[in-house]
Amino acid sequence: MTDAKRVYAFGKDAHGGNNTEGNRDMKMVLGGKGANLAEMANMGLPVPPGFTISCQACMEYYNSTPPAFPPGLAEEIDGYVADLEGKMGKTLGDPSDPLLVSVRSGSPFSMPGMMDTVLNLGLNDVSVRGLIAQTGNDRFAWDSYRRFIQMFSKVVLDAKGDLFENALTTKRHARNAATDADLGADDLRDLVAEFKEIVAVNVSAKEFPELADGGGRVAFPQDVAIQLRLAIEAVFRSWMNDRACEYRKMERIPDDLGTAVNVQSMVFGNKGETSATGVAFTRNPADGTNEFYGDFLTNAQGEDVVAGIRNTSALADLPAVLPEAGGELWKVLSTLESHYRDMCDIEFTIEQGTLWMLQTRVGKRTARAALKVAIDMVEEGLITREEAVLRIDPAQLDQLLHPQFDAKAHYEVVAKGLNASPGAAVGEVVFTSADAVEARAAGRNVILVRWETTPDDLRGMIAAQGILTSHGGKTSHAAVVARGMGKPCVCGAERLKIDAEKKQAVISGTDIVLGEGDIISIDGTTGIVVMGAVELVEPEVSGDFDTILSWSDEYRTMGVRANADTPDDAVLGRRFGAEGIGLCRTEHMFLGDRKQIVQDMIISEDEAGRTAPLAELLKVQVEDYLGIFAAMDGLPVTVRLLDPPLHEFLDSPRELAVEIARMECTGVSQSEIAPKRRLLALVDSMSEMNPMLGLRGCRLGIMFPEIYGMQVRAIAIATCQLKAQGRDPRPEIMIPLVSVVAELETLRAESEAILAQVQAQEGCVLDIPIGTMIELPRAAITADEIAKVADFFSFGTNDLTQTTFGFSRDDIESKFLPRYLERKILLRNPFETVDSGVAMLVKMGCDLGRKTNPKIKLGVCGEHGGDPESVKIFHAAGLTYVSCSPYRVPLARLAAAQAALSEKAPASDNR
Ligand code: ADP
Ligand code: MG
Ligand code: MG
Repeated sequence: MTDAKRVYAFGKDAHGGNNTEGNRDMKMVLGGKGANLAEMANMGLPVPPGFTISCQACMEYYNSTPPAFPPGLAEEIDGYVADLEGKMGKTLGDPSDPLLVSVRSGSPFSMPGMMDTVLNLGLNDVSVRGLIAQTGNDRFAWDSYRRFIQMFSKVVLDAKGDLFENALTTKRHARNAATDADLGADDLRDLVAEFKEIVAVNVSAKEFPELADGGGRVAFPQDVAIQLRLAIEAVFRSWMNDRACEYRKMERIPDDLGTAVNVQSMVFGNKGETSATGVAFTRNPADGTNEFYGDFLTNAQGEDVVAGIRNTSALADLPAVLPEAGGELWKVLSTLESHYRDMCDIEFTIEQGTLWMLQTRVGKRTARAALKVAIDMVEEGLITREEAVLRIDPAQLDQLLHPQFDAKAHYEVVAKGLNASPGAAVGEVVFTSADAVEARAAGRNVILVRWETTPDDLRGMIAAQGILTSHGGKTSHAAVVARGMGKPCVCGAERLKIDAEKKQAVISGTDIVLGEGDIISIDGTTGIVVMGAVELVEPEVSGDFDTILSWSDEYRTMGVRANADTPDDAVLGRRFGAEGIGLCRTEHMFLGDRKQIVQDMIISEDEAGRTAPLAELLKVQVEDYLGIFAAMDGLPVTVRLLDPPLHEFLDSPRELAVEIARMECTGVSQSEIAPKRRLLALVDSMSEMNPMLGLRGCRLGIMFPEIYGMQVRAIAIATCQLKAQGRDPRPEIMIPLVSVVAELETLRAESEAILAQVQAQEGCVLDIPIGTMIELPRAAITADEIAKVADFFSFGTNDLTQTTFGFSRDDIESKFLPRYLERKILLRNPFETVDSGVAMLVKMGCDLGRKTNPKIKLGVCGEHGGDPESVKIFHAAGLTYVSCSPYRVPLARLAAAQAALSEKAPASDNR
């Protein structure tokens, strides 16, 4: 690896020629920021020159112990520094005209604000004089130097940011200055001295021995070469900071990609009123409207816009304020969008009227905006329909399937902010991320209320149902991160006066005080805040959402069904586009007041004793099926015969024992107690060590043929009744937990006999397919035998995952799975995204099944059916359909289309 190129230049050379070594396709080497800076430079856009140190160099740094630059890197960097100095006609640290640079992080996938950046590097006690001489602006020079010390100390030397903020605040108070902008050159020069003293007192000389002065204190580095090396190392290290690691876990970004380091010559947006800095989107990222959108600040630098410290202006006003640079930016935005053929987001700076591009990438957007942008771009002829379908992230559509405020609900709006991320949420107010995490762990819903969030709030944001801030615009940290997470967020609700210390917020202009634990509701779609809990309603699939889904339906080859146990769920699934029910569980039909009937049946000692309860169950079961089959008229409904362990329908032995003890104490006669004792003995005798592997599924059907018989009869009767009404019921009977073909053979024969009986009795023709679940490894491995007696297979990937791993889901998810994930022993929760080993069993089951029964229908009904990534795996395995919860049906439709399309074209990288 030592000869490999690790550094790449970008930007114009001294003569205006393009001197760029990378391009947009080199994200894995240059990181997203570096690759796109190179691309913009190649396009001839104004990019301040610089160079990018590769992500691989970052990993090499980590791979040596202790972490260190790989041999040769320092020399390679020196060469590129010299080259940059040549291009710029300035040198780092020059006392008369210093080159200043930024040192910026940037990994292959966007991780906004998670890693570190240092601006204004190259300033020291001498070069600051050069900057004054060059600009004639000593206030600007001292401000740049104090910003540099502040950022460098925080990022590189690990000093607490508050120390500097406090010194600034003290200075403002002393000078009666309202903002930093009111501080003069002398104040800032004094601050530089104070900041250096803060560094000397607070930074450990042991950790930075090369910065120790004679007296064992740390001196702020004056050697620009040391500044640069330490800053580059700090950016490398920021790849592994806590919030970056946390973010990667959430976004499933691998840890071994590393971050690139971009060293770029500085441009200044804080050189007076003809200078500015801002962020821009080529379309509105919240709703997708085709307009330039963003924020800017005049006379400001870098971080000021996103920090939410000063109120920004709308980008649309820029051409009025700075006509020439504004017009230039408008042209660049159009150029970028047609070049990338997608919505882009951009960071720009205007230095004394000249526009500079500092960053671009394919912009993050809400689900709503993603749909609108994709459809508009098809209409504009920019992309094809296939591309539009491939571009939407199915997981993100989940945002649109969030609840909204009920339009009929009455509520009083107590504060209004910006509609930063859509969806409504209700929860208890918490003021810190730690409190949010704690409350969530205790199962409570919370709304995280903050002045503004920072990357340190990430855990709290994950834990919260929604986020509410009093500061910051739609491009503030809270807004951007919430949109990425699909969490409702209202930001910049200025009437909220938060006192985080006291854990309360006053709503100014009212006497309302929000305390910790108070329930509020927020609506991120409209930006309103309401006291108390507002009734939420279910979402609908319409408009752009519906358009993309109908395009998806044209491309997908796999069917999508819903898992539904009730007529209501069936209707919901149908509304979301389900083409049938892939799993109708029947166990809930045996609970509630019917539990007693089931218990009576189980405990009766003879067949005669079972007759009455069974007749009763038959009656209610017919009603159950009538409801579901009617709701799904014309579409298949796969009914699974009773599956759970029988003891779930019996009284709890512990409660029975307590009851008997109580009867004894209160002198109830022995003859009255006797039946309870018999029941307890029976329940005890039926208790199992391992019920999930015990008497359940088809084993119940073999042990108690009357139960399955009754269910099959009810299905048949309901079908005949609906047919008699001219309806089109299409039930399918599914037998669970088969491991050997003889189980299915036996139960199939018994079921067919009953179907024939009902057919004869009711004088109606029944054609009900009978199939099985494949949810045990033995069934998958012997699927060729089983397929001979099955009309369909439905892979029950929940149980198949449990039995393949030998994991008991309920036990492992709360106990050791988190540790497994943390230690990367497992990369995914196999109950969320189907495991590769389980997927191989599914594939084997499909292939073997088709071999002996080419007409067999093959579905999946585990929760994996609604996981977009698993859907793609199932498509590859050759399944006929997936079945999932009604809310996930739209996601599955889209994911299935993408699976079919990406067999032809590679998916776009939209992260
Ligand atoms: P992040 O990835 O957190 O956005 P960036 O590296 O983009 O961090 O930098 C943070 C801020 O500093 C941005 O607003 C960016 O525009 C600004 N900035 C970075 N490099 C320069 C530069 N060379 N000149 C002027 N501003 C810069
Ligand atoms: Mg940036
Ligand atoms: Mg099962």
